[in-house]
Amino acid sequence: MSCTHMPSCELFVQFAMNPALELWQTHYCQADFRRCKRYSLSLSGGVVPLTLLPNGKMVRAQRSSEEVAATTLFNAVLKNRTHMISVLVRAGVDPDVRNLEGLTPLMVAAERGLTEIAGLLLENGADPHLTDTAGDSAYDMAVRERHVAVARLLHTGGARARAGGTEYGRGGRQ
Ligand code: SF4
Repeated sequence: MSCTHMPSCELFVQFAMNPALELWQTHYCQADFRRCKRYSLSLSGGVVPLTLLPNGKMVRAQRSSEEVAATTLFNAVLKNRTHMISVLVRAGVDPDVRNLEGLTPLMVAAERGLTEIAGLLLENGADPHLTDTAGDSAYDMAVRERHVAVARLLHTGGARARAGGTEYGRGGRQ
């Protein structure tokens, strides 16, 4: 039996994305999950830090917990994990965080035609007017990649953002 916390576990996304971390996933998430410290902490109602490993050790990376959270948000967008994105932004992860290429999660969603994800990010305060280092916005990227539904959503979202609105319609994945 697999861990029932997979859909909401930020670390599981990292395991799923990175083959080098597969051992953790195989050992804990898909087998011995009751021994996972993240699992037991969330069962007890505690806040589970992103840097807590299943064996109870903390990640001793030079990256801050904000950087780990940002990476997890990008991974969740790439994996089309809407629930995870909601969890992360509700936990305070900046929806306009930039990756090393200067892209925001909304731009990544726009480039890949992920309409539902783009709508979710807009609902959670992502700014559709931001541009990457080349001056392109998420809308420009959606148009370039011919993702019509996302482009339409971003066009509407941009207009609503200018008007101070917060609600956006959601479409399915193209
Ligand atoms: S890391 Fe732990 S809590 Fe997260 S999915 Fe794996 S077993 Fe479950």
